[in-house]
Amino acid sequence: MIAKKWFFCGAAAGLAVLFIFGSGSPSDGASARAGEGPGRYFSSAKGGYLAMERVERSKEEWKEILTPEQFHVLREKGTERAFTGAYWDRKDEGVYRCAGCGIDLFSSAHKFDSGTGWPSFWQPIAPENIETEEDRSLFTVRTEVHCARCGGHLGHVFRDGPRPTGLRYCINSVSLDFVPAGGEE
Ligand code: FE
Repeated sequence: MIAKKWFFCGAAAGLAVLFIFGSGSPSDGASARAGEGPGRYFSSAKGGYLAMERVERSKEEWKEILTPEQFHVLREKGTERAFTGAYWDRKDEGVYRCAGCGIDLFSSAHKFDSGTGWPSFWQPIAPENIETEEDRSLFTVRTEVHCARCGGHLGHVFRDGPRPTGLRYCINSVSLDFVPAGGEE
């Protein structure tokens, strides 16, 4: 009876070990994401959601695709200087796509004049298209915002935005590609 009980405990412990080592940790980053399969992202052109492969590239591959400014902001979490980007003052109707992978990220319908010199939005085009993460750099705690498909750094989100969300997504122009409502520029 005792032997049987120990066998059972051993099996349970073995299963627990398998579970712990098999599940990976959220901080695994690329390796954990590679096994996740396609993501589901909102597309304004489709008016709904599309299943698309996640974008994983090496540093060298990104350097070939992006401009030096885009690489610095998207892949090294840089920040463009205020009032220098292409979109902080843009007011026409359209969609702002990820400069790294092309998915829709923000809409002109949610853009507002924050006076900061960076394009500012009170919500993303869809919650699935972005991800957030705690950022403890620069001696403060901020919430970093990145593209859900390619992981490209976009900016930060703050809780001093306008209604209805009270959020301010402070985004680098260089992380975005604007497509006017009429079509590609
Ligand atoms: Fe992206």
